[in-house]
Amino acid sequence: MTTRVYLGLGTNIGNKKENLTRAIEKLSLALGECKALSSFIETEPWGFNSCNSFLNCAAAFDTGLSPLELLDTTERIERELGRTAKSSNGNYHDRVIDIDILLYGNTIIKSERLTVPHPLMQQRRFVLEPLAEIASDTIHPVLAKSIKQLLNEN
Ligand code: ADP
Ligand code: MG
Repeated sequence: MTTRVYLGLGTNIGNKKENLTRAIEKLSLALGECKALSSFIETEPWGFNSCNSFLNCAAAFDTGLSPLELLDTTERIERELGRTAKSSNGNYHDRVIDIDILLYGNTIIKSERLTVPHPLMQQRRFVLEPLAEIASDTIHPVLAKSIKQLLNEN
């Protein structure tokens, strides 16, 4: 049994295209082949000031991992790619790679480590734009709207 998951990736330091490509390679090794990949979209920093613009993308995988196993995997890959600091209390900062779990099938999770669907995805064009390229008709299980609708409303 596998579940379709959508991940949101972002980077704003170093060779950004390479950071995203290497993250997708590592995710494919851990999760199986990438089922869909958006284009890489350049966006402005959100929630903090930085001179470094972001490169964002969204990717789909079908995985047998549980949500927390998936989070362990994405956090391991963030560390392997050189990410050090974590964001906390809405304090954002430059990062070599950020991998967020946007959707895990239709599952709704609210635990200390994990909130799925990602709680801010509907407010962030840098998430919705790439996600709409690969999942425009997918329904957000909490908001009961398609990704395309959420993007149009944003
Ligand atoms: P941000 O992505 O907001 O910049 P971080 O990547 O540093 O921040 O993640 C902060 C914490 O968010 C992580 O420790 C993780 O446990 C938690 N988290 C909660 N929900 C999710 C999710 N859907 N995807 C990824 N991390 C999540
Ligand atoms: Mg994150």
